[in-house]
Amino acid sequence: TSFADMGIKDDLLRGIYQYGFEKPSAIQQRAVVPILQGRDVIAQAQSGTGKTSMIGLTVCQTVDTTSREVQALILSPTRELASQTEKVILAMGNFISIKVHACIGGKSVGDDIRKLENGVQVVSGTPGRVCDMIKRRTLKTTHIKLLILDESDEMLSRGFKDQIYDIYRYLPPVLQVCLISVIPLPRVLLEHDKCCLCTFLFNT
Ligand code: AMP
Repeated sequence: TSFADMGIKDDLLRGIYQYGFEKPSAIQQRAVVPILQGRDVIAQAQSGTGKTSMIGLTVCQTVDTTSREVQALILSPTRELASQTEKVILAMGNFISIKVHACIGGKSVGDDIRKLENGVQVVSGTPGRVCDMIKRRTLKTTHIKLLILDESDEMLSRGFKDQIYDIYRYLPPVLQVCLISVIPLPRVLLEHDKCCLCTFLFNT
């Protein structure tokens, strides 16, 4: 399959090609279409296999760039990964004028507030700062339809489970969840029922 066969919009295809990609990597081949179909997905992928790019392109394809509301939330275990994801989204989304903000600890809270109040469609962050912004009501969750948990095994081992659960409670009940993990998850399936996802995530 090519990126064009995946039904990706033209302006995003231009961004992907300009970024230097010609065809989808193995994980992109398997996971992009189910994510774009709105399914809950568990994808097992090592870093360096194209998983960050997969997140970037699915988010770029999914969000309404004419809206000022946050529609996709990506959580990562480290500030570096959250920033990297923001950069990939900006680069691939070069021709779709997508607005994304990295909501990460150690950066200015004032800057977070300004960016979020100006209106962004995507937030890529670490659980602590994202949770903080949600509780301050600066990060509005009403329009979030896609939650991506990157390196979810790493987030669990770093003790972010409670914060993720805290965030999850603020999200709309109808929500697409994508769980990305480096290590094999128990019962790894590419397409999964959200109830199972949440059970796995919060009971581990
Ligand atoms: P990622 O896991 O998304 O960080 O990707 C790891 C490296 O592979 C990065 O340098 C990406 O730019 C590159 N990469 C990811 N997907 C593709 C692709 N479909 N074609 C070529 N390079 C890719």
